[in-house]
Amino acid sequence: MKFVDEFRSEKQASILAEKIKQATKHPWRIMEVCGGQTHTIMQYGLPDLLPKVIELLHGPGCPVCVTGLEVIDKAIAIAGSEDVIFCSYGDMLRVPGSKADLFDVKAAGGDVRIVYSPLDCLKIAMDNPQKRTVFFAIGFETTAPANAMAVKQAKRMNLDNFFLLVSHVTVPPVIRGLMDFPDNRVQGFLGPGHVCSVMGWHPYEELSEKYKIPIVVTGFEPIDILEGILRVVLQLEAGESFVENQYSRAVTKAGNAAAQAILEEVFEVCDQNWRGLGSIPKSGYRLSPAYAAHDADLVFSTTAEPVVESKVCISGDILKGVKKPKDCPAFGTQCTPEKPLGATMVSSEGTCAAYFRYGRLEILTN
Ligand code: SF4
Repeated sequence: MKFVDEFRSEKQASILAEKIKQATKHPWRIMEVCGGQTHTIMQYGLPDLLPKVIELLHGPGCPVCVTGLEVIDKAIAIAGSEDVIFCSYGDMLRVPGSKADLFDVKAAGGDVRIVYSPLDCLKIAMDNPQKRTVFFAIGFETTAPANAMAVKQAKRMNLDNFFLLVSHVTVPPVIRGLMDFPDNRVQGFLGPGHVCSVMGWHPYEELSEKYKIPIVVTGFEPIDILEGILRVVLQLEAGESFVENQYSRAVTKAGNAAAQAILEEVFEVCDQNWRGLGSIPKSGYRLSPAYAAHDADLVFSTTAEPVVESKVCISGDILKGVKKPKDCPAFGTQCTPEKPLGATMVSSEGTCAAYFRYGRLEILTN
């Protein structure tokens, strides 16, 4: 297949759905890791094509959703400083902190700007030498290389008014964390296609072997997802567990060596707090000491107040695959994309937002 239409073909989807039906002899629970995959699953109604005994669980692969509340609060505090231009991707501006969001800072006169790349932010720093320019560097291994490039470039140019506020997370440790949760329900994974295009799929072999779990690295179109599910089901039914690469048009076993090299140069691995999941050892990146002068976390002293999550929000259990949005009493009532209570409703990649957008009527009437 060459064109995107072919990855959305109804005929091909029916063929794959029939193959999944034929292959399925037992109930199975399969988790897609990426928020983009969750979005596709809901947008194209893929659960309706599957045997009822296959349950899709929606994992923690939305970077906006898993960024810790304390980091959002820190971003808001920094953005409110008079001499700061605070730059971020658009989604993050709507994420509610403990008391406000970045849009509130902007409305109050703060210089908060939406950018499409950290390099845009670098240009802003060059054009505004009297200001300190901070980029909110969040996301998985997919966004980290571009952020690493930007800060490396800033260092090379002696651009001492450019900073990163870093809250990067990495996928293999969170898969380990999910499998180690006592209430884990996952029996097979659709692996994260974008992340593997950078890091390769070899880091998942160890996980598949340790937990005896199929991991199929999968793309983001409906045909990709159905093929990924089929491959996971075939392994589960055969009692097998290994890593397969469905997304071979973008992913190799080794990944992108240049991207990995710059990650290693600029960042170091650290423990990370995942919103809804808690602290997971060695699951994040922070700037290495060589880049300390550009580290907003070190340069800006903000007073951290204890963070309080919404009592009603069950997004942690949703990210673990233990519950679904329909189990939340606030879904679609107190909590909507316009007025989100929790992070999984904020981002369009968040599970609650995907259910609200594509499956709301069905969910509310079931
Ligand atoms: S619907 Fe809102 S409150 Fe409920 S789990 Fe989702 S984000 Fe949290």
